[in-house]
Amino acid sequence: MTFNELGLSAPILKAIANHGYSEPTPIQAEAIPAILAGHDVMAAAQTGTGKTAGFTLPILELLSKGPRAPANQARTLILTPTRELAAQVGASVALYGAYLNLKSTVVFGGVKINPQMQKLRRGVDILVATPGRLMDLHSQNAVKFDHLEVLVLDEADRMLDMGFIHDIKRIISLLPKHRQNLMFSATFSEDIRKLAKGLVHNPIEISVSPRNTAAPSVEQWVCPVDKKRKPALLTKLIKDGDWSRALVFSKTKHGANKLTKYIEAHGITAVAIHGNKSQGARTKALADFKGNEIRILVATDIAARGLDIEQLPHVVNFDLPHVPEDYVHRIGRTGRAGSSGQAISLVSADEVELLSDIERLTQKILERREVEGFEPNLSLPETTLHQPLRHKKKRKALNSQTNKQNNTRHNNNSNNTKIRSVYGHRTKSGGKLKYGGRNQTSRPGQRFKGSSE
Ligand code: AMP
Repeated sequence: MTFNELGLSAPILKAIANHGYSEPTPIQAEAIPAILAGHDVMAAAQTGTGKTAGFTLPILELLSKGPRAPANQARTLILTPTRELAAQVGASVALYGAYLNLKSTVVFGGVKINPQMQKLRRGVDILVATPGRLMDLHSQNAVKFDHLEVLVLDEADRMLDMGFIHDIKRIISLLPKHRQNLMFSATFSEDIRKLAKGLVHNPIEISVSPRNTAAPSVEQWVCPVDKKRKPALLTKLIKDGDWSRALVFSKTKHGANKLTKYIEAHGITAVAIHGNKSQGARTKALADFKGNEIRILVATDIAARGLDIEQLPHVVNFDLPHVPEDYVHRIGRTGRAGSSGQAISLVSADEVELLSDIERLTQKILERREVEGFEPNLSLPETTLHQPLRHKKKRKALNSQTNKQNNTRHNNNSNNTKIRSVYGHRTKSGGKLKYGGRNQTSRPGQRFKGSSE
């Protein structure tokens, strides 16, 4: 399959070719024709799959054919959970739309609002925004949605995790009823499905990776180690392996800062990225890391989400995540687009349950490799593989409701929700979704607004 076959026009094909993309990724091959045909789309896709171009390219195509945005109006709204992701999506829009006469802008908090208001004054065809700043801008009449044609929720699961549900609902209530809705999410929890029910209509559903598995090119293993020796083990791994760059995940902002100081004190350049850092510091940290000026980026889950860092050879779980799905997101940062990668988890005895949860989710017992001189005094108990968690009942109810809603609210020719996956499965309405079973996300009380950003 080539991009030429997807129904995109010459200016977009030229931008894609300039960027060196030779063929569409699986999600692009599925999503682009569906979006061009005007369908709502619900896609299970993580960062790294090419999802941004998957929705940006057809949106640019559709917008290029209609009238331009009047003053203070936005024709497309792309909502993202983090500032980094907003900036990244904005950059993609600018890149892919380089040969089109469309205006786009990015708005997020942590920076001055006035320049954003000025840009919006002239109207924009594509607005990329984080929810909080968008609400501020709307309350100051800087942006209106009377001409809105397309809404995109990017990384919808993370938006819910970060407590944006009320903002999202308020924003949706401000939009015209008739619009195209595109929802992208790494996981499809019950909460996401609930949100989707009131948002997407008769959607094409797309799933791009087998659920809860890492790319086969990622080598994963566990280093059992005592908790207090983790920093020393990490620096040893970096030095002995002569790692050029690594992304290290810490559970807390404080832990990320402390670890960064330790690594730096051992002669390795490192920087922390988390929600307590100013936007300027976050942007600089990422640029320095991408520019190879910094070897180690220590990040919390939320700050790291959406970071597009190509060909990252090593990802380290300094702490195991409390939510097992985050393990899959984290290690998705390596072994991207076919390149090989290593995902190493430093696991102390007190984390055995978290390890077991991850193994249950991924249905794989992780190999253990002790490092000489770092054998734990408190040994890491053995784990066994448990049956995957399932919530069949709930999903059925939700599917049948969705279908009922589809049939009554929309005079679409097809009463069936169309479900596609890039692996060629196509199930009937109410059928079992390919990514079904990914609905055991946060446990009560484990996530709260901005908990680890
Ligand atoms: P995303 O999942 O949107 O964050 O994209 C991940 C990475 O894949 C980005 O660096 C894109 O530039 C790259 N990418 C997107 N589409 C393609 C493609 N068709 N061929 C090669 N690389 C791509």
